Amino acid sequence: MTMLLKNPQIPQASAHTVAIHNPDVPSLTMYLDPINKTFTFDYSTHAIACDRKLYLSRYRTLRPKVQNEALHAGKSIHTFVENFWLGADFPTCLQKFIDVATEDGSPLDMETTSINKRSVRRLVEIMGAYYKKYDPMRARWTPYIINNEPAVEIGFAFILGVVNGWTIIYCGRIDRIMTMDGEPTLVDTKSTTRFGPQYWQMLRPNNQITGYTAAIKELINILVKRTAIDVIYIGEERKPDANGNYKIPKAVREEGPEAISFWMLNAQFEHGPTTRSQNDIDEWWIDMLVEGDRMRQLFEKPRYEDWPKRTSQCNTFGKCEFHDLCSLKGVNEQLVENLYEIHIWSPYE
Ligand code: SF4
Repeated sequence: MTMLLKNPQIPQASAHTVAIHNPDVPSLTMYLDPINKTFTFDYSTHAIACDRKLYLSRYRTLRPKVQNEALHAGKSIHTFVENFWLGADFPTCLQKFIDVATEDGSPLDMETTSINKRSVRRLVEIMGAYYKKYDPMRARWTPYIINNEPAVEIGFAFILGVVNGWTIIYCGRIDRIMTMDGEPTLVDTKSTTRFGPQYWQMLRPNNQITGYTAAIKELINILVKRTAIDVIYIGEERKPDANGNYKIPKAVREEGPEAISFWMLNAQFEHGPTTRSQNDIDEWWIDMLVEGDRMRQLFEKPRYEDWPKRTSQCNTFGKCEFHDLCSLKGVNEQLVENLYEIHIWSPYE
């Protein structure tokens, strides 16, 4: 993975290289480094819209022992896609995918007859269709080259500014920058079970995409004119009727055999475009400085009670993984021991 760092002091403040100043609360060093007076965060930290959840997942670094199925499916898919755009052949992409999808502790359904839409069997079918659809594009869409390396899975960190005496650092990882039809393009892969016309509304405003655009501008001085969201839809398998026939829509039939095979698989892929201007980046920058300073102040408070619940977030993406714990008074350490493990934040992982 290429690492892009604007300032040489940043690696000392990153998750991998900084000395642990407080072994009891290692996350403190990663986010809040009291010696160097830096506060570091990424989009996923900012996106935790409930401070209580921020405390449990980042300050206490708790993660459910049983991993989230959707997250693991997404991680497996990303592995396939990363290798695909690096030029790997299908067996190699598939092997890399299988290695992640079936690793120890994987929550994915591995039954070969499973109808679960996130089963390994189903995901293999979908990634096979992805390969088939985009393989002909690989001559026209190639990874952008930075420091003699393809710009795929790029870790980055840069200083946003200094607020109240603290240096605020933003970091993260970009899926890839591609030259698509001659134009440098930021590409972000999303796997989803909720794809439809309304899906594209989430692209703007969207702090994650604007942050990636800002990072590219800051680190390699290119304002990418466009972003393509590489959507991989994980839908229910099509089922035949009582006579074993599929009711294939006329428009699909008229498109030919490949469209029919994709329809039967219920495999849908899009590269939807969005754009960001310098004004968008400027506005994002101020927002992130404000938000970074707000989170920095929270991380200076070790008391659970100082991180308030925001219950509007409890069911935003399914049930919050801390729901049972959060329903009790204080932190029930027995429940923590039974249900959670320590997972140190590692934005470049
Ligand atoms: S259950 Fe709700 S209030 Fe509690 S941590 Fe999760 S999102 Fe926050």
